[in-house]
Amino acid sequence: METRPGTPRIDDEVANELRAALGSANVCTSADDLDRYSRCTIPWQSLCAAVVFPASAEDVAAVVRIAARHRIPVWPSSTGRNWGYGTTLAIDDGAIVMILERMNRILEVNEELAYAVIEPGVTYTQLNAHLRSKGHKLWIDCTDGSGQGSVIGNALERGIGETPYGDHFGNLCGLEVILADGERVQLGSTTQGLKTWHTHKWGVGPYVEGLFTQSNLGIVTQAGIWLMPQPESHNSFVFEVSDERHLPKVVDAFRRLALTAIVNTKLHMINDFVSMAILTQRISEQVAQHGPLTDADLAALRRKYCIVPWSCAGGIYGTRGQVKLQRSLLREALSPYGRLIFISDALLPYLQRLIDWSWKSPLVRRLIELGARTSLPMLDSAPYVHKILQGIPTEYFVKHAYYRYRRPRPQEGVQPARDRCGLIWFAPILPFSNTHIWPFLDACKLRFAAHGFDFYVAMLLMNPRSIICLMAIIYDREDADETAHSVQLYEELLAIMRERQFQQYRAGLQSWGELFKDAPEMQRLNAKIKAALDPDNILAPGRYGVDL
Ligand code: ADP
Repeated sequence: METRPGTPRIDDEVANELRAALGSANVCTSADDLDRYSRCTIPWQSLCAAVVFPASAEDVAAVVRIAARHRIPVWPSSTGRNWGYGTTLAIDDGAIVMILERMNRILEVNEELAYAVIEPGVTYTQLNAHLRSKGHKLWIDCTDGSGQGSVIGNALERGIGETPYGDHFGNLCGLEVILADGERVQLGSTTQGLKTWHTHKWGVGPYVEGLFTQSNLGIVTQAGIWLMPQPESHNSFVFEVSDERHLPKVVDAFRRLALTAIVNTKLHMINDFVSMAILTQRISEQVAQHGPLTDADLAALRRKYCIVPWSCAGGIYGTRGQVKLQRSLLREALSPYGRLIFISDALLPYLQRLIDWSWKSPLVRRLIELGARTSLPMLDSAPYVHKILQGIPTEYFVKHAYYRYRRPRPQEGVQPARDRCGLIWFAPILPFSNTHIWPFLDACKLRFAAHGFDFYVAMLLMNPRSIICLMAIIYDREDADETAHSVQLYEELLAIMRERQFQQYRAGLQSWGELFKDAPEMQRLNAKIKAALDPDNILAPGRYGVDL
Protein backbone atom coordinates (compact mmCIF):
# COMPACT_ATOMS: atom_id res chain seq x y z
CA MET A 1 0.00 0.00 0.00
CA GLU A 2 1.24 3.47 -0.90
CA THR A 3 1.78 5.93 1.90
CA ARG A 4 -1.25 8.16 1.57
CA PRO A 5 -0.55 11.88 1.27
CA GLY A 6 -0.57 13.47 4.69
CA THR A 7 0.27 10.19 6.45
CA PRO A 8 1.80 11.24 9.75
CA ARG A 9 5.34 10.05 10.28
CA ILE A 10 7.56 9.82 13.28
CA ASP A 11 11.17 10.94 13.01
CA ASP A 12 13.75 8.29 12.24
CA GLU A 13 15.38 9.11 15.56
CA VAL A 14 12.19 8.24 17.47
CA ALA A 15 11.60 5.13 15.39
CA ASN A 16 15.15 3.98 16.05
CA GLU A 17 14.81 4.51 19.79
CA LEU A 18 11.56 2.54 19.82
CA ARG A 19 13.16 -0.26 17.79
CA ALA A 20 16.12 -0.38 20.13
CA ALA A 21 13.76 -0.72 23.09
CA LEU A 22 11.28 -3.26 21.66
CA GLY A 23 13.01 -4.91 18.70
CA SER A 24 12.28 -3.94 15.09
CA ALA A 25 9.47 -6.45 14.65
CA ASN A 26 7.50 -4.76 17.41
CA VAL A 27 7.51 -1.26 15.97
CA CYS A 28 5.36 -0.82 12.87
CA THR A 29 5.41 2.24 10.69
CA SER A 30 4.38 0.90 7.29
CA ALA A 31 1.33 2.45 5.64
CA ASP A 32 -0.47 -0.91 5.83
CA ASP A 33 0.05 -1.25 9.56
CA LEU A 34 -0.91 2.33 10.25
CA ASP A 35 -4.09 1.85 8.26
CA ARG A 36 -4.95 -1.40 10.08
CA TYR A 37 -4.75 0.28 13.48
CA SER A 38 -6.57 3.41 12.35
CA ARG A 39 -9.81 1.66 11.44
CA CYS A 40 -12.96 2.04 13.40
CA THR A 41 -16.69 1.57 13.01
CA ILE A 42 -17.52 5.12 14.09
CA PRO A 43 -17.43 7.99 11.61
CA TRP A 44 -14.12 9.37 12.79
CA GLN A 45 -10.77 9.19 11.10
CA SER A 46 -7.33 9.79 12.51
CA LEU A 47 -4.14 8.14 11.43
CA CYS A 48 -1.46 7.03 13.84
CA ALA A 49 2.27 7.46 13.15
CA ALA A 50 3.49 4.18 14.66
CA VAL A 51 2.13 1.05 16.32
CA VAL A 52 4.18 -0.56 19.08
CA PHE A 53 3.83 -3.94 20.75
CA PRO A 54 5.56 -4.07 24.13
CA ALA A 55 6.08 -7.44 25.79
CA SER A 56 6.54 -6.34 29.41
CA ALA A 57 5.97 -3.56 31.91
CA GLU A 58 9.60 -2.51 31.32
CA ASP A 59 8.89 -2.19 27.60
CA VAL A 60 5.81 -0.10 28.33
CA ALA A 61 7.84 2.21 30.57
CA ALA A 62 10.55 2.51 27.90
CA VAL A 63 8.01 3.56 25.24
CA VAL A 64 6.42 6.10 27.55
CA ARG A 65 9.81 7.64 28.34
CA ILE A 66 10.78 7.87 24.66
CA ALA A 67 7.40 9.40 23.80
CA ALA A 68 7.70 11.94 26.63
CA ARG A 69 11.18 12.97 25.49
CA HIS A 70 9.87 13.64 21.99
CA ARG A 71 6.45 14.93 23.09
CA ILE A 72 4.48 12.38 21.07
CA PRO A 73 1.16 11.14 22.50
CA VAL A 74 0.81 7.43 23.27
CA TRP A 75 -2.60 5.73 22.98
CA PRO A 76 -2.62 2.36 24.77
CA SER A 77 -5.08 -0.47 24.10
CA SER A 78 -5.02 -4.01 25.37
CA THR A 79 -6.38 -5.91 22.38
CA GLY A 80 -8.08 -2.99 20.63
CA ARG A 81 -11.55 -4.44 20.07
CA ASN A 82 -13.40 -1.43 21.44
CA TRP A 83 -15.66 -1.30 18.37
CA GLY A 84 -18.39 1.30 18.27
CA TYR A 85 -16.62 3.54 20.80
CA GLY A 86 -13.32 4.26 19.01
CA THR A 87 -11.35 1.00 18.68
CA THR A 88 -7.64 1.98 18.75
CA LEU A 89 -8.13 5.46 17.32
CA ALA A 90 -6.45 8.47 18.85
CA ILE A 91 -8.38 11.72 18.65
CA ASP A 92 -5.78 13.31 16.36
CA ASP A 93 -3.30 12.14 13.74
CA GLY A 94 0.27 11.32 14.61
CA ALA A 95 0.01 9.29 17.84
CA ILE A 96 1.94 6.20 18.81
CA VAL A 97 -0.66 3.47 19.25
CA MET A 98 0.39 0.90 21.84
CA ILE A 99 -1.14 -2.57 21.63
CA LEU A 100 -0.57 -4.85 24.62
CA GLU A 101 -1.53 -8.14 22.99
CA ARG A 102 1.94 -9.63 23.48
CA MET A 103 1.53 -9.21 27.23
CA ASN A 104 -0.78 -12.18 27.43
CA ARG A 105 0.46 -14.19 30.38
CA ILE A 106 -1.86 -15.70 32.94
CA LEU A 107 0.37 -15.14 35.94
CA GLU A 108 -1.65 -16.95 38.61
CA VAL A 109 -4.89 -18.79 39.17
CA ASN A 110 -5.94 -19.05 42.79
CA GLU A 111 -8.61 -21.73 42.94
CA GLU A 112 -9.25 -21.38 46.66
CA LEU A 113 -9.84 -17.63 46.59
CA ALA A 114 -11.33 -17.67 43.08
CA TYR A 115 -9.23 -15.13 41.21
CA ALA A 116 -6.64 -14.96 38.47
CA VAL A 117 -3.82 -12.50 37.87
CA ILE A 118 -3.43 -11.64 34.23
CA GLU A 119 -1.75 -9.30 31.79
CA PRO A 120 -3.74 -6.97 29.53
CA GLY A 121 -3.33 -9.08 26.38
CA VAL A 122 -5.22 -12.01 27.94
CA THR A 123 -8.49 -12.48 26.03
CA TYR A 124 -11.79 -13.94 27.21
CA THR A 125 -11.30 -16.93 24.95
CA GLN A 126 -7.81 -17.54 26.29
CA LEU A 127 -8.73 -17.24 29.97
CA ASN A 128 -11.81 -19.42 29.59
CA ALA A 129 -9.83 -22.07 27.68
CA HIS A 130 -7.02 -21.98 30.24
CA LEU A 131 -9.33 -22.48 33.22
CA ARG A 132 -11.23 -25.31 31.54
CA SER A 133 -8.17 -27.10 30.18
CA LYS A 134 -6.46 -27.02 33.59
CA GLY A 135 -9.59 -28.33 35.27
CA HIS A 136 -10.16 -25.25 37.43
CA LYS A 137 -13.70 -25.06 38.72
CA LEU A 138 -13.83 -21.35 38.02
CA TRP A 139 -15.82 -19.42 35.40
CA ILE A 140 -14.97 -16.11 33.81
CA ASP A 141 -17.51 -13.48 32.90
CA CYS A 142 -17.31 -12.39 29.27
CA THR A 143 -19.27 -9.92 27.17
CA ASP A 144 -21.41 -10.74 24.15
CA GLY A 145 -18.75 -8.96 22.09
CA SER A 146 -15.70 -10.68 20.66
CA GLY A 147 -13.96 -13.47 22.57
CA GLN A 148 -10.76 -11.85 21.32
CA GLY A 149 -11.44 -8.82 23.53
CA SER A 150 -9.22 -8.17 26.51
CA VAL A 151 -10.46 -9.02 30.01
CA ILE A 152 -8.55 -6.05 31.43
CA GLY A 153 -9.33 -3.68 28.51
CA ASN A 154 -13.07 -4.09 28.96
CA ALA A 155 -12.83 -3.77 32.73
CA LEU A 156 -10.86 -0.51 32.36
CA GLU A 157 -13.71 0.78 30.23
CA ARG A 158 -16.03 -0.29 33.07
CA GLY A 159 -17.79 -2.59 30.62
CA ILE A 160 -20.34 -5.13 31.78
CA GLY A 161 -20.93 -8.77 31.00
CA GLU A 162 -23.58 -11.31 31.79
CA THR A 163 -23.27 -13.23 35.05
CA PRO A 164 -23.22 -12.18 38.74
CA TYR A 165 -19.57 -11.23 38.00
CA GLY A 166 -20.65 -8.98 35.13
CA ASP A 167 -19.51 -5.70 36.68
CA HIS A 168 -16.05 -6.01 35.19
CA PHE A 169 -14.35 -3.18 36.98
CA GLY A 170 -16.11 -4.16 40.21
CA ASN A 171 -14.35 -7.52 39.95
CA LEU A 172 -10.93 -6.16 39.05
CA CYS A 173 -8.71 -6.12 42.13
CA GLY A 174 -5.05 -5.16 42.48
CA LEU A 175 -3.76 -3.19 39.47
CA GLU A 176 -0.20 -2.57 38.41
CA VAL A 177 0.25 0.59 36.35
CA ILE A 178 2.98 2.44 34.52
CA LEU A 179 2.64 6.18 35.00
CA ALA A 180 3.44 8.82 32.40
CA ASP A 181 6.95 9.26 33.83
CA GLY A 182 7.60 5.53 33.47
CA GLU A 183 7.23 4.72 37.17
CA ARG A 184 5.65 1.38 38.02
CA VAL A 185 3.09 1.31 40.87
CA GLN A 186 1.11 -1.46 42.55
CA LEU A 187 -2.07 0.46 43.38
CA GLY A 188 -3.37 0.40 46.94
CA SER A 189 -0.47 -1.66 48.20
CA THR A 190 1.91 -0.71 51.02
CA THR A 191 4.36 -3.53 50.40
CA GLN A 192 5.56 -5.67 47.50
CA GLY A 193 3.95 -9.11 47.54
CA LEU A 194 0.99 -7.94 49.65
CA LYS A 195 -1.10 -11.04 50.34
CA THR A 196 -4.45 -9.26 50.04
CA TRP A 197 -3.57 -7.33 46.88
CA HIS A 198 -5.99 -9.39 44.79
CA THR A 199 -8.55 -10.10 47.50
CA HIS A 200 -9.25 -6.70 49.09
CA LYS A 201 -10.21 -4.19 46.44
CA TRP A 202 -10.02 -0.99 48.49
CA GLY A 203 -6.39 -1.35 49.63
CA VAL A 204 -5.51 1.25 52.23
CA GLY A 205 -5.39 5.03 51.98
CA PRO A 206 -6.91 6.95 49.10
CA TYR A 207 -8.67 4.60 46.72
CA VAL A 208 -7.05 5.28 43.33
CA GLU A 209 -7.78 2.26 41.12
CA GLY A 210 -10.80 4.02 39.62
CA LEU A 211 -8.59 6.84 38.33
CA PHE A 212 -7.11 4.44 35.81
CA THR A 213 -10.47 3.52 34.24
CA GLN A 214 -12.15 5.56 31.48
CA SER A 215 -9.17 7.90 31.65
CA ASN A 216 -5.62 8.52 30.48
CA LEU A 217 -3.56 8.58 33.67
CA GLY A 218 -1.54 5.38 33.35
CA ILE A 219 -1.12 2.11 31.48
CA VAL A 220 -2.27 -1.01 33.29
CA THR A 221 0.23 -3.84 32.94
CA GLN A 222 -1.42 -6.48 35.13
CA ALA A 223 -4.45 -6.98 37.38
CA GLY A 224 -6.29 -9.49 39.48
CA ILE A 225 -9.73 -10.55 38.28
CA TRP A 226 -12.24 -12.27 40.51
CA LEU A 227 -13.82 -15.40 39.05
CA MET A 228 -17.07 -17.24 39.75
CA PRO A 229 -16.75 -20.64 41.43
CA GLN A 230 -18.49 -23.06 39.10
CA PRO A 231 -21.96 -23.48 40.60
CA GLU A 232 -23.55 -26.87 41.20
CA SER A 233 -26.38 -25.83 38.92
CA HIS A 234 -27.02 -23.17 36.29
CA ASN A 235 -30.05 -22.36 34.14
CA SER A 236 -30.36 -19.68 31.53
CA PHE A 237 -33.74 -18.18 30.89
CA VAL A 238 -35.39 -16.35 28.03
CA PHE A 239 -38.49 -14.32 28.69
CA GLU A 240 -40.52 -13.21 25.67
CA VAL A 241 -42.90 -10.27 25.89
CA SER A 242 -45.35 -10.30 22.99
CA ASP A 243 -47.67 -7.62 24.27
CA GLU A 244 -45.80 -4.34 24.71
CA ARG A 245 -48.48 -3.03 27.07
CA HIS A 246 -46.99 -5.34 29.70
CA LEU A 247 -43.55 -3.71 29.56
CA PRO A 248 -43.99 -1.37 32.58
CA LYS A 249 -45.09 -4.37 34.67
CA VAL A 250 -42.10 -6.35 33.41
CA VAL A 251 -39.73 -3.54 34.44
CA ASP A 252 -41.36 -3.39 37.89
CA ALA A 253 -41.10 -7.17 38.24
CA PHE A 254 -37.43 -7.30 37.22
CA ARG A 255 -36.54 -4.40 39.52
CA ARG A 256 -38.13 -6.20 42.47
CA LEU A 257 -36.36 -9.42 41.49
CA ALA A 258 -33.03 -7.60 41.24
CA LEU A 259 -33.43 -5.64 44.47
CA THR A 260 -34.13 -8.89 46.31
CA ALA A 261 -31.18 -10.62 44.56
CA ILE A 262 -33.41 -13.25 42.92
CA VAL A 263 -31.98 -11.88 39.67
CA ASN A 264 -28.29 -11.08 40.20
CA THR A 265 -27.04 -11.23 36.63
CA LYS A 266 -26.68 -8.50 34.04
CA LEU A 267 -30.16 -9.09 32.66
CA HIS A 268 -30.49 -8.15 28.96
CA MET A 269 -33.81 -6.84 27.59
CA ILE A 270 -33.60 -6.42 23.83
CA ASN A 271 -36.07 -5.07 21.29
CA ASP A 272 -37.04 -6.91 18.11
CA PHE A 273 -34.54 -5.13 15.89
CA VAL A 274 -31.61 -6.32 18.02
CA SER A 275 -32.65 -9.93 17.34
CA MET A 276 -33.10 -9.21 13.64
CA ALA A 277 -29.67 -7.64 13.31
CA ILE A 278 -28.14 -10.75 14.88
CA LEU A 279 -30.12 -13.20 12.77
CA THR A 280 -29.98 -11.59 9.35
CA GLN A 281 -28.65 -8.82 7.11
CA ARG A 282 -30.55 -6.25 5.12
CA ILE A 283 -29.17 -7.64 1.84
CA SER A 284 -30.58 -11.08 2.67
CA GLU A 285 -34.16 -9.86 3.04
CA GLN A 286 -36.82 -8.62 0.61
CA VAL A 287 -36.91 -5.20 2.21
CA ALA A 288 -36.05 -1.68 1.07
CA GLN A 289 -32.26 -1.41 0.84
CA HIS A 290 -32.30 2.22 2.00
CA GLY A 291 -33.78 3.74 5.11
CA PRO A 292 -35.35 1.89 8.03
CA LEU A 293 -37.63 -1.13 7.85
CA THR A 294 -41.22 -0.13 7.18
CA ASP A 295 -43.85 -1.27 9.68
CA ALA A 296 -44.90 -3.93 7.18
CA ASP A 297 -41.30 -5.14 6.75
CA LEU A 298 -40.81 -5.24 10.48
CA ALA A 299 -44.02 -7.24 10.93
CA ALA A 300 -43.02 -9.65 8.16
CA LEU A 301 -39.57 -10.21 9.66
CA ARG A 302 -41.05 -10.71 13.11
CA ARG A 303 -43.31 -13.41 11.63
CA LYS A 304 -40.53 -15.01 9.60
CA TYR A 305 -38.18 -15.34 12.57
CA CYS A 306 -40.84 -15.56 15.33
CA ILE A 307 -39.37 -12.55 17.03
CA VAL A 308 -41.44 -10.95 19.78
CA PRO A 309 -41.26 -7.19 20.41
CA TRP A 310 -39.06 -7.66 23.49
CA SER A 311 -36.94 -10.60 24.66
CA CYS A 312 -35.14 -10.79 28.00
CA ALA A 313 -32.33 -13.15 28.93
CA GLY A 314 -30.46 -13.94 32.11
CA GLY A 315 -29.05 -16.72 34.23
CA ILE A 316 -29.63 -18.30 37.62
CA TYR A 317 -26.86 -19.99 39.57
CA GLY A 318 -26.50 -21.95 42.78
CA THR A 319 -27.21 -25.33 44.27
CA ARG A 320 -29.87 -27.43 42.58
CA GLY A 321 -32.29 -26.39 45.29
CA GLN A 322 -31.52 -22.71 44.88
CA VAL A 323 -31.95 -22.84 41.11
CA LYS A 324 -35.25 -24.70 41.49
CA LEU A 325 -36.49 -22.10 43.93
CA GLN A 326 -35.33 -19.23 41.70
CA ARG A 327 -37.12 -20.79 38.75
CA SER A 328 -40.38 -20.86 40.63
CA LEU A 329 -39.92 -17.28 41.90
CA LEU A 330 -39.24 -16.07 38.36
CA ARG A 331 -42.25 -17.97 37.07
CA GLU A 332 -44.46 -16.47 39.71
CA ALA A 333 -43.24 -12.92 39.02
CA LEU A 334 -43.10 -13.01 35.21
CA SER A 335 -45.57 -15.55 33.84
CA PRO A 336 -48.52 -13.13 33.72
CA TYR A 337 -46.64 -10.99 31.21
CA GLY A 338 -45.06 -13.35 28.72
CA ARG A 339 -43.46 -16.70 27.93
CA LEU A 340 -40.66 -17.87 30.20
CA ILE A 341 -38.30 -20.60 28.98
CA PHE A 342 -35.52 -22.20 31.02
CA ILE A 343 -32.52 -23.99 29.55
CA SER A 344 -30.37 -26.26 31.66
CA ASP A 345 -27.13 -28.10 30.87
CA ALA A 346 -29.15 -31.32 30.79
CA LEU A 347 -31.47 -29.91 28.11
CA LEU A 348 -28.71 -28.47 25.96
CA PRO A 349 -27.56 -31.64 24.10
CA TYR A 350 -31.19 -32.46 23.15
CA LEU A 351 -31.73 -28.93 21.99
CA GLN A 352 -28.55 -29.08 19.93
CA ARG A 353 -29.67 -32.34 18.33
CA LEU A 354 -33.04 -30.84 17.40
CA ILE A 355 -31.30 -27.84 15.88
CA ASP A 356 -28.96 -30.08 13.84
CA TRP A 357 -31.88 -32.19 12.55
CA SER A 358 -33.89 -29.10 11.71
CA TRP A 359 -31.14 -27.67 9.54
CA LYS A 360 -31.03 -30.95 7.64
CA SER A 361 -34.73 -31.69 7.19
CA PRO A 362 -37.38 -29.10 6.23
CA LEU A 363 -40.12 -31.35 7.64
CA VAL A 364 -38.46 -31.71 11.04
CA ARG A 365 -37.81 -27.99 10.97
CA ARG A 366 -41.46 -27.17 10.37
CA LEU A 367 -42.63 -29.52 13.12
CA ILE A 368 -40.14 -28.13 15.61
CA GLU A 369 -40.89 -24.54 14.71
CA LEU A 370 -44.60 -25.14 15.20
CA GLY A 371 -44.14 -27.12 18.40
CA ALA A 372 -41.69 -24.70 20.00
CA ARG A 373 -43.44 -21.58 18.64
CA THR A 374 -40.17 -20.26 17.40
CA SER A 375 -38.04 -20.12 14.27
CA LEU A 376 -34.97 -22.21 13.66
CA PRO A 377 -32.59 -19.22 13.61
CA MET A 378 -33.99 -18.11 16.99
CA LEU A 379 -33.67 -21.64 18.37
CA ASP A 380 -30.16 -21.76 16.99
CA SER A 381 -29.15 -18.79 19.13
CA ALA A 382 -30.27 -20.42 22.42
CA PRO A 383 -27.09 -22.48 23.03
CA TYR A 384 -24.97 -19.34 22.53
CA VAL A 385 -27.07 -17.47 25.08
CA HIS A 386 -26.74 -20.37 27.51
CA LYS A 387 -22.98 -20.68 27.09
CA ILE A 388 -22.24 -17.00 27.34
CA LEU A 389 -23.98 -17.10 30.72
CA GLN A 390 -21.29 -19.64 31.71
CA GLY A 391 -18.47 -17.37 30.56
CA ILE A 392 -17.96 -19.16 27.23
CA PRO A 393 -17.38 -16.41 24.65
CA THR A 394 -18.74 -16.46 21.12
CA GLU A 395 -18.51 -14.31 17.99
CA TYR A 396 -22.18 -15.08 17.31
CA PHE A 397 -23.68 -11.80 18.58
CA VAL A 398 -21.09 -9.46 17.05
CA LYS A 399 -22.57 -10.21 13.64
CA HIS A 400 -25.22 -7.54 14.25
CA ALA A 401 -22.61 -4.93 13.23
CA TYR A 402 -22.96 -6.23 9.65
CA TYR A 403 -26.72 -5.66 9.36
CA ARG A 404 -26.37 -2.87 6.78
CA TYR A 405 -23.11 -4.19 5.32
CA ARG A 406 -23.36 -4.61 1.56
CA ARG A 407 -21.69 -8.00 1.36
CA PRO A 408 -22.39 -11.26 3.19
CA ARG A 409 -20.94 -11.15 6.65
CA PRO A 410 -18.09 -13.50 7.57
CA GLN A 411 -19.08 -16.65 9.41
CA GLU A 412 -15.84 -16.66 11.37
CA GLY A 413 -13.20 -14.10 12.24
CA VAL A 414 -15.82 -11.40 12.65
CA GLN A 415 -14.08 -8.00 12.76
CA PRO A 416 -16.40 -5.06 12.07
CA ALA A 417 -13.63 -2.42 12.14
CA ARG A 418 -11.43 -4.32 9.69
CA ASP A 419 -14.43 -4.83 7.39
CA ARG A 420 -15.42 -1.18 7.61
CA CYS A 421 -18.85 -1.78 9.09
CA GLY A 422 -20.71 1.25 10.38
CA LEU A 423 -21.59 0.97 14.08
CA ILE A 424 -21.84 3.62 16.78
CA TRP A 425 -22.67 2.72 20.38
CA PHE A 426 -24.63 5.21 22.43
CA ALA A 427 -24.76 4.04 26.03
CA PRO A 428 -26.81 6.21 28.38
CA ILE A 429 -27.57 4.93 31.86
CA LEU A 430 -30.93 5.62 33.54
CA PRO A 431 -32.62 4.92 36.86
CA PHE A 432 -34.30 1.52 36.53
CA SER A 433 -37.76 3.02 36.60
CA ASN A 434 -40.64 3.25 34.15
CA THR A 435 -40.90 6.98 34.82
CA HIS A 436 -37.56 7.51 33.12
CA ILE A 437 -37.12 4.63 30.69
CA TRP A 438 -40.09 4.73 28.33
CA PRO A 439 -40.37 8.49 27.66
CA PHE A 440 -36.63 8.53 26.96
CA LEU A 441 -36.79 5.55 24.60
CA ASP A 442 -39.80 7.05 22.78
CA ALA A 443 -37.93 10.32 22.21
CA CYS A 444 -34.83 8.50 20.93
CA LYS A 445 -36.85 6.19 18.70
CA LEU A 446 -38.40 9.18 16.93
CA ARG A 447 -34.93 10.53 16.13
CA PHE A 448 -33.77 7.14 14.79
CA ALA A 449 -36.74 7.11 12.41
CA ALA A 450 -36.25 10.76 11.40
CA HIS A 451 -32.70 9.98 10.30
CA GLY A 452 -33.57 6.78 8.49
CA PHE A 453 -32.32 4.24 11.04
CA ASP A 454 -33.86 1.19 12.66
CA PHE A 455 -34.30 1.55 16.40
CA TYR A 456 -31.85 -0.76 18.17
CA VAL A 457 -32.04 -0.81 21.95
CA ALA A 458 -30.75 -3.31 24.46
CA MET A 459 -31.40 -2.58 28.12
CA LEU A 460 -28.66 -4.02 30.32
CA LEU A 461 -29.05 -4.15 34.06
CA MET A 462 -26.06 -2.38 35.56
CA ASN A 463 -27.32 -2.87 39.09
CA PRO A 464 -30.80 -3.14 40.62
CA ARG A 465 -31.15 0.64 40.55
CA SER A 466 -29.68 1.56 37.14
CA ILE A 467 -30.15 0.30 33.63
CA ILE A 468 -28.02 0.97 30.55
CA CYS A 469 -30.16 1.77 27.50
CA LEU A 470 -27.58 0.72 24.94
CA MET A 471 -28.41 1.89 21.43
CA ALA A 472 -26.57 1.05 18.22
CA ILE A 473 -26.64 3.21 15.15
CA ILE A 474 -25.92 0.67 12.44
CA TYR A 475 -25.17 2.45 9.18
CA ASP A 476 -23.70 1.78 5.76
CA ARG A 477 -20.24 3.32 5.74
CA GLU A 478 -20.16 3.30 1.96
CA ASP A 479 -23.15 5.63 1.86
CA ALA A 480 -22.04 9.22 2.55
CA ASP A 481 -25.57 10.40 3.27
CA GLU A 482 -26.21 7.63 5.80
CA THR A 483 -22.88 8.33 7.44
CA ALA A 484 -23.73 12.04 7.76
CA HIS A 485 -27.10 11.13 9.29
CA SER A 486 -25.44 8.78 11.77
CA VAL A 487 -23.38 11.71 13.05
CA GLN A 488 -26.43 13.97 13.35
CA LEU A 489 -28.46 11.26 15.08
CA TYR A 490 -25.71 10.63 17.60
CA GLU A 491 -25.54 14.33 18.44
CA GLU A 492 -29.30 14.56 18.83
CA LEU A 493 -29.34 11.52 21.12
CA LEU A 494 -26.68 13.14 23.29
CA ALA A 495 -28.80 16.30 23.45
CA ILE A 496 -31.95 14.37 24.47
CA MET A 497 -29.95 12.58 27.15
CA ARG A 498 -28.49 15.79 28.57
CA GLU A 499 -31.82 17.58 28.50
CA ARG A 500 -33.29 14.81 30.65
CA GLN A 501 -30.34 14.90 33.05
CA PHE A 502 -28.88 11.53 32.22
CA GLN A 503 -25.33 10.66 31.16
CA GLN A 504 -23.47 7.84 29.46
CA TYR A 505 -22.04 4.92 31.41
CA ARG A 506 -19.29 4.63 28.81
CA ALA A 507 -18.55 7.11 26.08
CA GLY A 508 -17.37 6.99 22.48
CA LEU A 509 -14.50 9.11 21.19
CA GLN A 510 -16.83 11.51 19.33
CA SER A 511 -18.43 12.61 22.60
CA TRP A 512 -15.33 13.10 24.75
CA GLY A 513 -14.85 16.76 23.82
CA GLU A 514 -18.32 17.59 25.17
CA LEU A 515 -18.42 15.20 28.10
CA PHE A 516 -17.97 17.72 30.91
CA LYS A 517 -19.22 20.76 29.04
CA ASP A 518 -21.96 21.35 31.63
CA ALA A 519 -19.67 20.59 34.57
CA PRO A 520 -16.63 22.90 34.30
CA GLU A 521 -15.61 22.24 37.90
CA MET A 522 -15.39 18.52 37.11
CA GLN A 523 -13.40 19.33 33.98
CA ARG A 524 -10.98 21.39 36.09
CA LEU A 525 -10.65 18.66 38.71
CA ASN A 526 -9.79 16.13 36.00
CA ALA A 527 -7.28 18.57 34.49
CA LYS A 528 -5.59 19.07 37.88
CA ILE A 529 -5.19 15.31 38.32
CA LYS A 530 -3.88 15.02 34.76
CA ALA A 531 -1.41 17.86 35.32
CA ALA A 532 -0.09 16.15 38.44
CA LEU A 533 0.32 12.72 36.82
CA ASP A 534 1.05 13.57 33.21
CA PRO A 535 2.24 17.19 32.97
CA ASP A 536 3.36 16.78 29.36
CA ASN A 537 -0.04 15.36 28.32
CA ILE A 538 1.61 12.28 26.79
CA LEU A 539 -0.96 9.60 27.61
CA ALA A 540 -4.01 9.66 25.32
CA PRO A 541 -4.61 13.43 25.61
CA GLY A 542 -8.31 14.24 25.59
CA ARG A 543 -9.46 10.71 26.32
CA TYR A 544 -12.79 10.92 28.21
CA GLY A 545 -12.42 14.70 28.16
CA VAL A 546 -9.36 14.57 30.44
CA ASP A 547 -6.86 17.07 29.12
CA LEU A 548 -4.66 19.91 30.30
P1 ADP B 1 -11.26 -4.64 24.21
O1 ADP B 1 -10.35 -5.15 23.13
O2 ADP B 1 -11.49 -5.61 25.32
O3 ADP B 1 -12.51 -3.99 23.69
P2 ADP B 1 -9.40 -2.47 24.38
O4 ADP B 1 -8.08 -3.09 24.46
O5 ADP B 1 -9.85 -1.92 23.06
O6 ADP B 1 -10.48 -3.47 24.95
O7 ADP B 1 -9.50 -1.36 25.49
C1 ADP B 1 -10.56 -0.47 25.58
C2 ADP B 1 -10.02 0.89 25.93
O8 ADP B 1 -9.52 0.86 27.28
C3 ADP B 1 -8.85 1.29 25.08
O9 ADP B 1 -9.28 2.10 24.02
C4 ADP B 1 -7.93 2.04 26.01
O10 ADP B 1 -8.17 3.42 25.95
C5 ADP B 1 -8.27 1.53 27.37
N1 ADP B 1 -7.26 0.54 27.78
C6 ADP B 1 -7.25 -0.74 27.40
N2 ADP B 1 -6.25 -1.40 27.95
C7 ADP B 1 -5.58 -0.51 28.70
C8 ADP B 1 -4.44 -0.60 29.53
N3 ADP B 1 -3.84 -1.76 29.71
N4 ADP B 1 -4.02 0.50 30.16
C9 ADP B 1 -4.67 1.67 30.00
N5 ADP B 1 -5.77 1.80 29.24
C10 ADP B 1 -6.22 0.75 28.59
